[in-house]
Amino acid sequence: MFSKILIANRGEIAIRIIRACKEMGISTVAVFSEADRDALHVSLADESYCIGPAPAAQSYLNMDAILMIARFCGVQAIHPGYGLLSENPEFAQRCEQAGIEFIGAPADVMRKMGDKDMARRTMRQAGVPVVPGCDLVATLEDAIREAKQIGYPLLIKARAGGGGRGIRRVNGESELAAAYRSAAAEAQSAFGDGALYMEKLLLRVKHIEVQLLCDRKGHVVCLGERDCSMQRKNQKVIEESPAVCVSGELRKQLTETTALAAREAGYVGAGTIEYLLTEDGQFYFMEMNTRLQVEHPVTEMVTGVDLVKSQIRIASGQPLTIRQKDVRIDHHAIECRINAEDPANNFRPSCGQIGILHIPGGPNVRFDTALYQGYSIPPFYDSMIGKLIVSARTREDAIRKMQAALCEMVIEGVNHNAQMHLDLLCEPVFIDGSYTTDYLANRKA
Ligand code: ADP
Ligand code: ADP
Ligand code: MG
Repeated sequence: MFSKILIANRGEIAIRIIRACKEMGISTVAVFSEADRDALHVSLADESYCIGPAPAAQSYLNMDAILMIARFCGVQAIHPGYGLLSENPEFAQRCEQAGIEFIGAPADVMRKMGDKDMARRTMRQAGVPVVPGCDLVATLEDAIREAKQIGYPLLIKARAGGGGRGIRRVNGESELAAAYRSAAAEAQSAFGDGALYMEKLLLRVKHIEVQLLCDRKGHVVCLGERDCSMQRKNQKVIEESPAVCVSGELRKQLTETTALAAREAGYVGAGTIEYLLTEDGQFYFMEMNTRLQVEHPVTEMVTGVDLVKSQIRIASGQPLTIRQKDVRIDHHAIECRINAEDPANNFRPSCGQIGILHIPGGPNVRFDTALYQGYSIPPFYDSMIGKLIVSARTREDAIRKMQAALCEMVIEGVNHNAQMHLDLLCEPVFIDGSYTTDYLANRKA
């Protein structure tokens, strides 16, 4: 097992990883930007080093600086968290070359599955049903021709996309040219890659994803599904597990398909396959996330498996000790993403100094955050400031527990979306579980 790990991330996920390392007796090295000197991950790690100015491109994405610190400190592995360098095959490769384990998928697998167009082709070949659409479109003329085949409405998507960016809805041919250009421009600036493909826009769908773990010996275990259909602008807002709409039979199919896909990809580590599920019960592969997800705690709460510790064990060469037949899901968990933003003001990001902070507690209530009283949220990074997760024996009890926890939570000093979550949890479509990915876009304020 490793004795020292560098965490190449910030915020709640850096804290989550540091905690796992502490429990495993592993020393931790944090890196931070000039804007994060007072960040919690800096003081919780055993050692911390500044790696550059506030913009992520000059600090948290600075591979040279991170690898220099890693070598200087003599770490055996780097955990990239999510976002930032977590899905960057070049970084994974440079870690490998430096003799440092990258705690994530191997670079070649990341290349294959991180490119969303290539992943679609790989999955199609493996016999996995894929969202109807086309391969890369090189020009607008190509796009117009392919769109005729696919039919409207459709989505233009970026091959390198993530975090909901680079996606445009097109209702008819007259909208195609403008959407094509703006998607390409957004993808180019966000990911340095403007390549696009298109998919049929599936209506009234559920976003259902399956969490998996694979070890180096080729053992695959699926840890049930998450329903992430409560979304705003293609970004997840609430996640839960298990999904109300997934029957035992469908879960079996999803598990088998996901295990097949993981084997086909030669996957190693923790990963997630995202599917769209239509009203008639058909599911289609959408993408694979070759990393830890934001919403991983939901799965941890229902299965009792620590995904971060599992990632670390797999990266150190240990085999999985859990088998598919051992996976038991007898709880229900819900996560609300708490963002520093103003729902009354078009969700404008809000930053400032945290005043009174009261974190809800009680049995099976978890709050993953990097906040503390007096902390000033810097304006440079993601607006997610915490994740409130609860679990209970039944979904009804989990909803009540989440309502109680949200009521109890106090975060003064910034605008945040806790009240919006509370409102959502009381709505009939949430209570009966029938909400689909278009729900928030169509909801009256
Ligand atoms: P999850 O699938 O885990 O819910 P999100 O889509 O919410 O992940 O993304 C998690 C974080 O990673 C967010 O900060 C998001 O902006 C960032 N992110 C996701 N994909 C990419 C990508 N391809 N490039 C850059 N950042 C990304
Ligand atoms: P990202 O890489 O940004 O996470 P995804 O391909 O996972 O992008 O899509 C993000 C979200 O957009 C999905 O969770 C879903 O709600 C919606 N979406 C994506 N593709 C389709 C589609 N073909 N039809 C309907 N909704 C879609
Ligand atoms: Mg996605």
